[in-house]
Amino acid sequence: MTSFWRNIFFSKIFCLNCNEELRSGNIPGICNSCLHFFDFNGLNSLDNSLLEVYSPLIYEGMVKDLIYKLKYDGEELIAYTLGIIMADYIKYLKLYDKNTILVPIPLAKKREAKRGFNQARLLAEVIASELKISVRDNLLYRKQETPPLYNLSPGQRKLVLEGAFSFNKGFNNLNKENFILVDDIFTTGSTLNEATGVLYNAGAIRIIGLTAVIALKKEKFDKGHNL
Ligand SMILES: [Zn+2]
Repeated sequence: MTSFWRNIFFSKIFCLNCNEELRSGNIPGICNSCLHFFDFNGLNSLDNSLLEVYSPLIYEGMVKDLIYKLKYDGEELIAYTLGIIMADYIKYLKLYDKNTILVPIPLAKKREAKRGFNQARLLAEVIASELKISVRDNLLYRKQETPPLYNLSPGQRKLVLEGAFSFNKGFNNLNKENFILVDDIFTTGSTLNEATGVLYNAGAIRIIGLTAVIALKKEKFDKGHNL
């Protein structure tokens, strides 16, 4: 996988955002002047009912456009750039060891077929090859796709997501394994929580969440920036 990504990436010499020719950059695919406008997340983790979630970038401005292009315009190369940033982030925070296993949040089969890929799996593959750890993308499967959760109340979200994920019975129970659940965006945390519950039930010892971006609520965002 590593060489696949590297090869296609090195044939691309223009910034994913502004199309300027890339000379030397800090992050593959993004020129340094665009990188300057990325909103990096100053928070290391979020208090969430079941798990800690880590997200290097804030879902704003240019980063928001990149996520949109990845998910809806099929620009898969963006997953490479975001995956590198995610890998650097958890390396810096020392959140993994060589036995940590990455599990991408699955899409329902129909949705994945329509999109042509699962962006969470692409991200997990890039992170895995950067950190030399493994991905298990068939551990969980999603029985049905869920509607957008952003405007639902916590109770409604729970109801909609209940039973959305299942543990693949092809695997035995998990034994003393550490997992990082990978997704593209953190909004309410409900999806990650639901998947976490399933993995804990199957015997996982420690699970954290890692998403490329976090959508901060307006108040939170403003508060963070006024501090
Ligand atoms: Zn640029």
